[in-house]
Amino acid sequence: MQTSTAVVTKCRICLAVARHKGFKAREMMFGLKDQFDYFECESCGSILIYEMPPDLARYYGSGYYSFKKDRPWLAYAKHAWAEYSYGKMNITGRLVASVLGVHQGVRAVAKAKVTKDSTILDVGCGSGELIALLDHLGFENLTGSDPFLSSDKETEGGSRLLKRQIQEVSGTYDLVMFNHSLEHIFDPHTEIAHAKLLLNAGGKISVRIPIAGNYAWRTYGPDWVALDAPRHLCIPSRAGLLLCATAHDLKLEQIYYESDEFMFWGSEQYKADIPLSSAASYSSSLLKRLLPSSRIRSYRRLANKLNLSEDSDAACVIFTSRT
Ligand SMILES: [Zn+2]
Repeated sequence: MQTSTAVVTKCRICLAVARHKGFKAREMMFGLKDQFDYFECESCGSILIYEMPPDLARYYGSGYYSFKKDRPWLAYAKHAWAEYSYGKMNITGRLVASVLGVHQGVRAVAKAKVTKDSTILDVGCGSGELIALLDHLGFENLTGSDPFLSSDKETEGGSRLLKRQIQEVSGTYDLVMFNHSLEHIFDPHTEIAHAKLLLNAGGKISVRIPIAGNYAWRTYGPDWVALDAPRHLCIPSRAGLLLCATAHDLKLEQIYYESDEFMFWGSEQYKADIPLSSAASYSSSLLKRLLPSSRIRSYRRLANKLNLSEDSDAACVIFTSRT
C-alpha cells in the first residue's frame, strides 16, 4: 500500500484525533487516475478523504443525473423487478433478479416496514429512479432531494424531486433514506443531525453504504472498487457508523449486508489497471452479464457467503429515533 505522510487529523465519523494511517487512492471509474490522499482511522477503522477536493464536480459524469423515459418493455421489466424485490412473486421480476440480484433500494424500503402512506424522503435521490419505482409500487408520499438536480421536478407518478441539500428540505418524514449517498458527504455528522430533525416521532433512518474494514478492503486495499476515489469522501466502518448514530440518539434496528460479485470483479479490474468505464471492463458486455462465467459465479457465491458472515463491503443499516 502506498502511504502518504501521516498528519494529526480528526476522524469525521468517530471524532478520534490521531495520526491516522494515510494512503493514496486513484480515480478509476472514468480512468482519470488522479491520486487522492485518504486515511484509515486508527480508532474506528473508517476510511476518509483528508480534504474536500476543490473540483469535485469534475469527477461526476455529465449523465449522472439525466432521466430518460424507458421504452415500454424496459419499464415493464423494471416494474416487475421492483415488485419481486418488494416481496411480490412474479416470473419476469425473478428472471431479472437472477441476473442483477434484487433491487436493493426497494428491498431496503420493504425491510424498513413502512406503509404505503408513510412519508418517505430519499436523500441524494439522483435522477429519482428509486422514487419512480416506489411510485409504481403504490407509495403515496414520496419526496427526493438532490442538490445536483438541474431544477425541481416531478416523477411521472407525481412525486416531488427537489433540487436541495438536506439542510434546505422542510416537512417531517416517517423514513429518511440514504441510498449510497452518505458516503458522498464530507461531514456525515451534520448530515445525520439534519436527517434526525426531519423525522416524525418513531421515525427511521436507513443508510445503504459501503462498509470499511471488510474482506475486499483487506484483500485489495486502495484498489477496493467501493473506495471510489474521490467521490466517496467518508466510508464508515460498522463500529464507526454505530458510534455516529448513537451520538445522534439513534438506535440500531437492523443491519444486513448486501454485496454482490461487483466487489470482486471491480476490484480485480482496478488492480489490473482497468477502469470501470473502459471497453475492456466486464460491465461493458451485456452478453457476459447475461451468461456469467464460472469465475463471476464463484465471486457471487463468495459475496453471498460474506454477506451472511457480515464481512462483505456494503450494508443497509436501519436506525430508529429514540426521541
Ligand atoms: Zn474513527
